[in-house]
Amino acid sequence: MTLTLPFDNSYARLPGRFFVRQRAEPVRAPGLIAVNAPLAEALGLDPAMLATPDAVAVFAGNATPAGAEPLAQAYAGHQFGGWVPQLGDGRALLLGEIVAPDGRRYDIQLKGSGRTPFSRSGDGRAWIGPVLREYIVSEAMAALGVPTTRALAAVTTGEVVWRETARPGAVLVRVAASHVRVGTFQYFAARQDTEALRLLCAHVLERHYPQAEGPLGLLAAVTAAQARLIAAWMSFGFIHGVMNTDNMAVSGETIDYGPCAFMDGFDPMKVFSSIDQQGRYAYGNQPPVALWNLAQLASCLLPLIDEDEAAAIEAATDTINRFAEIYEAEWLRRFGAKIGIASAAPQDRPLIEALLSLMAGQNADFTRTFRGLATGMAAAEFRDPAPFAAWAEGWQARLSREADPAAVMRRANPAYIPRNHRIEAAIGAALGGDLGPFERLNAILARPFDDQPEWAAYQAAPAPGEEVQRTFCGT
Ligand code: AMP
Ligand code: MG
Repeated sequence: MTLTLPFDNSYARLPGRFFVRQRAEPVRAPGLIAVNAPLAEALGLDPAMLATPDAVAVFAGNATPAGAEPLAQAYAGHQFGGWVPQLGDGRALLLGEIVAPDGRRYDIQLKGSGRTPFSRSGDGRAWIGPVLREYIVSEAMAALGVPTTRALAAVTTGEVVWRETARPGAVLVRVAASHVRVGTFQYFAARQDTEALRLLCAHVLERHYPQAEGPLGLLAAVTAAQARLIAAWMSFGFIHGVMNTDNMAVSGETIDYGPCAFMDGFDPMKVFSSIDQQGRYAYGNQPPVALWNLAQLASCLLPLIDEDEAAAIEAATDTINRFAEIYEAEWLRRFGAKIGIASAAPQDRPLIEALLSLMAGQNADFTRTFRGLATGMAAAEFRDPAPFAAWAEGWQARLSREADPAAVMRRANPAYIPRNHRIEAAIGAALGGDLGPFERLNAILARPFDDQPEWAAYQAAPAPGEEVQRTFCGT
């Protein structure tokens, strides 16, 4: 049985300077790690078909299915604030797009599929560690209701990848609303290719924001999507870790899971990434960094907004300046729900902030403290519970005006997040040939708001020796 996917490739119909057509580099011995059955079904694909040797051969890059038009996308970007005029898919290929039964269009991308003209000094490959990590975390994000790229499948290549030491190679099959990034716009803006910018703008509007109009409509829609996304990240203690403009999708999905992490103990300026020396992408910096990235997008769009540059700058600035307002409202809604307030008002903000500041002062576990509010277990997360008890008095007084605060909290505060030490343990086991912990972790994280008493140990914070201090880029 050959793998057939109902491809309809709109990006491949854009002009040739948007990408390089490229086949995947074949590998020695493809092997299946996982197929995401619920996602396959949502896409209108048969999960059993995706587990066949033919499908595994496609995912590993040894075969190209009918209708696929594999290509590496061109993009640029600011990495840690420094301008890089050409990045592009250096280890990924867009196989093509499919339109799911819900009418939405999705990219099917192979990540780790070999060298492309954008690989620079890289080998175009990925090893099993970052592939499993992205699989686990992106699927956990989806289960939490956070907009994100998804993991459709993962395969091994039967080849060795060198990352300090020999590692087993792997490919992630990634699904995204699209892979258009802020950096895609920057690529053409830097080349003063206004025609390409116009085409890209139309492509993104049609694909993601059909209600919006023109470059300002696009900018407003991306601004709102990013403001909502970052508020969602903040509400789950998620740190992306590498919010370069090439890692910001204009769809508003979380993309490029590298050194990302969910915090254990709450620290507003927490950083995990080994390469983020200055803390540019610390937890608390994510909102201003998102706005900084949007300013880069805005500057790319100026020539499309108005011939008069001053007028264009003014209109673009007004548009992205709505970020703060949308972010604040969404932050309040989410954090209000986390303490049991169904629709929080600005005057509820001090109560939320007081709790966060107590948590920060004592490095209380972010997820367990919030989850514990509904169960009466939150006090146990504080070394000194007295200030929390004082806070809880005012909190209880406020909750007396709420209909069902416990239910609101249980929907806003997950019991299970992909804690770093669990991810590391799953990767370690997979390296030893045991995919059990990886599969178990995915199954638990698929129902993050359910108690799942048999898996209560997965709610635990890392023991002192288990704590993961540093995370690394996939490269
Ligand atoms: P990232 O920091 O993961 O967002 O990647 C930044 C850039 O480096 C992108 O253009 C990637 O395609 C490229 N890149 C990362 N890892 C590799 C690799 N192993 N081989 C080739 N290119 C890579
Ligand atoms: Mg990237």
